[in-house]
Amino acid sequence: MLASPETPDSNARMGATAAVSVQIDLACIRRNLEDIRRQAGVAVLAVVKADAYGLGIDRVLPAIADGVEGFCIFNLAEARDARILERTGKSSLALGPTASENVDEYLAQGVRPAVWDAGRAAELRRADPVLCVDTGMQRFACPPEQIDDVLRGGNCKEAFTHATNPRQLENFLQLVRGRGLKIHAAGSSLLSLPEARLDAVRPGLALYRGAARVSTALVEARNTKGPAGYTGFAASRHGVILAGYSNGLRPGSCLVNGRRAKVVEVGMQSAFVNLCETDRTGDEVVLLGDSLTEMEVAAGWNTSPQEALFRLCSMGMRRYVA
Ligand SMILES: *Cc1c(COP(=O)(O)O)cnc(C)c1O
Repeated sequence: MLASPETPDSNARMGATAAVSVQIDLACIRRNLEDIRRQAGVAVLAVVKADAYGLGIDRVLPAIADGVEGFCIFNLAEARDARILERTGKSSLALGPTASENVDEYLAQGVRPAVWDAGRAAELRRADPVLCVDTGMQRFACPPEQIDDVLRGGNCKEAFTHATNPRQLENFLQLVRGRGLKIHAAGSSLLSLPEARLDAVRPGLALYRGAARVSTALVEARNTKGPAGYTGFAASRHGVILAGYSNGLRPGSCLVNGRRAKVVEVGMQSAFVNLCETDRTGDEVVLLGDSLTEMEVAAGWNTSPQEALFRLCSMGMRRYVA
């Protein structure tokens, strides 16, 4: 495996600490894409917003560009900063609102704006805007009764919705089917539903699952004497790692020497981990990867796997293996 460090300024990312290493497996992302393509059998619009969920858009783009129809970002600036059109020759769909509404900038960056009101659709008409239909999200989306106006205003040939369940999908189809539009609805959560695949799919998480390994080392390991830490937690032996809530860490699952353990208490820049008798200073603590999935970490953190993945990938220096 070839390992290469990313650009020198990258460990200045907010929340990153030199004590944590983040390894991104680009071949895994490519395998995930191939699996999605095989399963869905339709075009893939890869969601690379928020620096590709924290995995690093600069390295993710060339790894997957061949296998996707285009990309989804949140706003125009993300596509411009990552030079998506210049580097891949492929267009992007901006899912959210953008500060600048200069139609020439959309054209220059190969970005098609999502639109949900008729006035804005008309202003951005030359940039080939895409109608976003509200099926329940109630955010950045067109109410059903305004669909005709927006389609007309933007001369839209494509429509999508941010659906997270089959009922929203059905609602979407009733609103847009039979109008000759290219349509799409499925992010990762609806990929397994054949009727959600339509003309394209928009996976984010499903591309990145299993591709990041986040690890650090114990800087202390000791037998616990009475109540420890801020909270007075009980343990027979505990260790300390150099990642804390300022780095995005929360209490939850980890692996110490390959064994399930717990981050029992999190401070500003360090955290306590419960240990067994044989664990020593310098031993590895895995915060994500190997047998510890985004799903498991997210469940312990009481959040989504997308948030867990983003936080964990932002914790340290990223290194890439191809
Ligand atoms: C972020 C986003 C996606 C991707 O979501 P995942 O659940 O991570 O696959 C798809 N569609 C829209 C509109 C989004 O904002």
